[in-house]
Amino acid sequence: MTRAHFAPRGSRRFGSGRRRGTSAGDGFIVGLVLILTLMPTGPTEGASAAAARTASSTTSSATAATTATTTTVLSAASAATARAAHATPSSPEADPGKPRLVVLVSIDQFRADYLEKFRDLYLPVPSAGKPGGFRWLMERGAYHLDAQHDHLHLYTGPGHAVLLTGAPPYLSGIIGNSWWDRATKTVRYCLDDPDSPVIGSAAARKGVSPKSLLVSTVGDELKMATGGRAKVWGIGFKDRAAMLMAGHLADGALWLDDESGRWISSRYYFKDGKLPGWVEAWNARKPMDAWFGKSWTPMVPASAYARAWTASGAHANPAAGLGTSFPHKVDGGLAAPGKAYYRAFTETSYANGYVFDSALEIVAREHLGQDEVPDILAINLSTNDYVGHSFGPDSPELIDVSVATDRQLAAFLQALVSAVPGGLGSVTLVLSADHGVAPNAIAMKEAGFAAGVYDEEALRSTAEEALDRELGAADWTSGIVEGELYLDHATVEAKKVPLDRAQTIAAAALAGAPGVYDAVTSARIQTGALPPTALSRRIAESWNPERSGDVVILPSPYWTEKSAEKGATHGSPYAYDTRVPVLFAGAGIRPGRRPEPVTTLDIAPTLATLLGVLAPSGCEGRVLGEDLR
Ligand SMILES: [Zn+2]
Repeated sequence: MTRAHFAPRGSRRFGSGRRRGTSAGDGFIVGLVLILTLMPTGPTEGASAAAARTASSTTSSATAATTATTTTVLSAASAATARAAHATPSSPEADPGKPRLVVLVSIDQFRADYLEKFRDLYLPVPSAGKPGGFRWLMERGAYHLDAQHDHLHLYTGPGHAVLLTGAPPYLSGIIGNSWWDRATKTVRYCLDDPDSPVIGSAAARKGVSPKSLLVSTVGDELKMATGGRAKVWGIGFKDRAAMLMAGHLADGALWLDDESGRWISSRYYFKDGKLPGWVEAWNARKPMDAWFGKSWTPMVPASAYARAWTASGAHANPAAGLGTSFPHKVDGGLAAPGKAYYRAFTETSYANGYVFDSALEIVAREHLGQDEVPDILAINLSTNDYVGHSFGPDSPELIDVSVATDRQLAAFLQALVSAVPGGLGSVTLVLSADHGVAPNAIAMKEAGFAAGVYDEEALRSTAEEALDRELGAADWTSGIVEGELYLDHATVEAKKVPLDRAQTIAAAALAGAPGVYDAVTSARIQTGALPPTALSRRIAESWNPERSGDVVILPSPYWTEKSAEKGATHGSPYAYDTRVPVLFAGAGIRPGRRPEPVTTLDIAPTLATLLGVLAPSGCEGRVLGEDLR
């Protein structure tokens, strides 16, 4: 594929592109650069369980579970500390610059502006070297002010595939949550794998694995660099988030069975078809049921919601039984915990605390961060995405869940201090997100923007009718999936029509449809015949020869798919979807506010360098050397 029209990634970053001229070059931003020194780690960071409990209790959420888990972690940490005391300091792996544990927290649908917009509501940075929440990361870590995803189709699968591979979708193969499979003539989910049955769930589920991910992750490279001794885990409510971050060689990935509230996995990771004993024991206690019948009440003063754009709940589309405004009853409309309850629970401000508690259980039970061989734990907080989809990015609920996440993050970090020898001096933390979110399209239309909703299936009909008209009646289109139109190549061949002609007819029809900014044929992408814009580059970066469609459809700004007429969604190549946090803190990290543009592709090579391992196989990002000590 010819890509000569696009500037190489390096020159884009430091060249004279439009983004450069309006951001990094501005002197006033450079003037804001502060070099902050991370508070010294050591005895002062030896957290007490009480401190962790205090931080947790302010969330009015997972207090009981956090307390229980923290106790477990502390006992495991004590044992680990004893073990560490007997470790040989001259062990070849002992390297003071290397973290014992890397923790990546990906907040699903967490837009970059949420850090600053709600800053006054987040915990202040604690004294005495204790970690806090977002502000601690922003003020004591490496905080990238101009960070974004650099691909098309801003969905969960592609976003999470980027974070620990550093590979754009054209290489990672994860071009969407799903794509059209030409061989089977069906929609294929990014994790589909009949050879890897789901384990731990009573429900009939299709097998899943990370086999469709065509490149390695940082965890895979760490495994290969340590003879498999490094431990790598992923956890989150969503299987694609947990697995696409954990990778191929991970020890395990856990996600939620929404039928039962249990953590489940795939035989891909557990060859004997059994979950680890501690996961079974955790599930047997049904800890998620503890919130049944409670209400999600606001935790910040009502005055804080004045900044919400759509405060009325008029555009809300919540899960069963939650209601469109506070307080939200958390029972799913059921008399006892069941699927609707678990779905509702995951959409409340309590749920991220539960995920963090479960992640701490992994640390304790799998002994992460306890020896000189570094480990990786990838955590996805899906709740922010569920709340954003249901209530929109400008709702009181979104503000509330962001603030709850801050408190829960602080409690988690405090517990990590106790769980890992050396505290946060031994742990490197990364915070990012898989994508942002658009404001509700109807609210934007009512506000006077050129906004609206489009229907993907209607777009397919538009293309089909145009092809029928120009080339004669036939079944020209196979499917339309997440912004990609697939033509039926057998039909095109049988009718002896050049493929690029059929593509051009379909693209012209789609480009004229309401809500479509442009429609681009794969022939144009493959020959580099796109204008030299950042958007064109992202189209090419996301076009995989085997999995992508014949026509890539680009929505107009503020237009969303019809299914998100209420609530909100993401997927577009615009700032509200692409701009996400990128923050590092802890072991090996040089703190500071960094205005230079970075992308999420840069996270993986930076971590690989920090860990002293090869960059993942498809990695195209840059090592953020300015962040490393
Ligand atoms: Zn997502």
